[in-house]
Amino acid sequence: TIAVGSMLALAACSGGSGSGSDGGDGGGDGGLIGVAMPTKSSERWIQDGNAVKEQLEEQGFKVDLQYAEDDIPTQVSQIENMITKGAEALIIASIDGTTLSQVLQDAADADIPVIAYDRLIRDSENVDYYASFDNFVVGQQQATSLLNGLGLTDLEGAPAADAPAGPFNIELFAGSPDDNNATFFWNGAMDVLQPLIDDGTLVVKSGQTDFEQAAILRWDGEVAQERMENILTSTYSDGSKVNAVLSPYDGLSRGIISALTDAGYSVGAEWPIISGQDAEIDSVKAINSGEQFATIFKDTRKLAEVAVDMASSILNGEEVEVNNTTDYDNGKKVVPSYLLESQIVVKDNITEVLVDSGYWTEEEING
Ligand code: BGC
Repeated sequence: TIAVGSMLALAACSGGSGSGSDGGDGGGDGGLIGVAMPTKSSERWIQDGNAVKEQLEEQGFKVDLQYAEDDIPTQVSQIENMITKGAEALIIASIDGTTLSQVLQDAADADIPVIAYDRLIRDSENVDYYASFDNFVVGQQQATSLLNGLGLTDLEGAPAADAPAGPFNIELFAGSPDDNNATFFWNGAMDVLQPLIDDGTLVVKSGQTDFEQAAILRWDGEVAQERMENILTSTYSDGSKVNAVLSPYDGLSRGIISALTDAGYSVGAEWPIISGQDAEIDSVKAINSGEQFATIFKDTRKLAEVAVDMASSILNGEEVEVNNTTDYDNGKKVVPSYLLESQIVVKDNITEVLVDSGYWTEEEING
């Protein structure tokens, strides 16, 4: 993994000059880098965008940072614009991983290297590198956090000595079907859950066990809320209770929590165990108050550092550091990747994981 030490070294390079777009210090040549982010509606992408911009500027690059509010044509035209403005490299977190082929061909024709950020860009030869987390492991961690919450395992997934027999009712949610990560999260989660579904410890009472049934387009929390409401009405009107909900993203978890509250569930003995992802501040608060059991922390500062290092290595003609050259086939090629590690966050380790690392302050969490 990328050491925090090298982040500090990076920061030191800026020489305290603020935006630092002065060429020399960090190896950047003052050229422009285009950074395309999907949306500001989720906190994590704002943190990602800010971290990438800051770190690129510390290295002496200029930055064109754009958000597309989850609208595909907007993202395409933003990237076109970056190419027109003479961007020397592109860092792209795509909305729909399959819709950028033409604009990436234009980038390739102009010799502009492309780094897929967090989400793999599919169906294009013209993706040079991929910076992300180990997304299959993220899914495994989400499922493991549920098992831990149900008392079945510890946070590493080792069986608990005094594990209850169950059965437990569980409902499953997945991310946006056009986001390559969503399938990785789902497959990772099902890798952990399926054996327990097969042996009857877990029961998907709604019967909705396919990715297509569980998927929530554009990761929309309101759509997740509606789906949860429908499941509660169709499946749990007989007085039975849902004990756990697999949610792949904090924004979906908040929708699911609203549906449960509206249906009369209250935090306490019968409140289900709910997973999440991204350690968004509202969800960290919800973990503290017991509404959400866990989230997965992916340090956006480290991801930004990987992507920035990739861009500057390419532009400086240096070797690009990768640690995975097998898992991320985008339909045209296996994209060389650098995958970071993620961490399960539960109430007990919020301070250790999120506060001690400086990601959130105690005031932000308790305020
Ligand atoms: C990211 C997640 C995020 C989700 C919704 C995924 O591609 O990897 O971190 O929760 O998008 O924004």
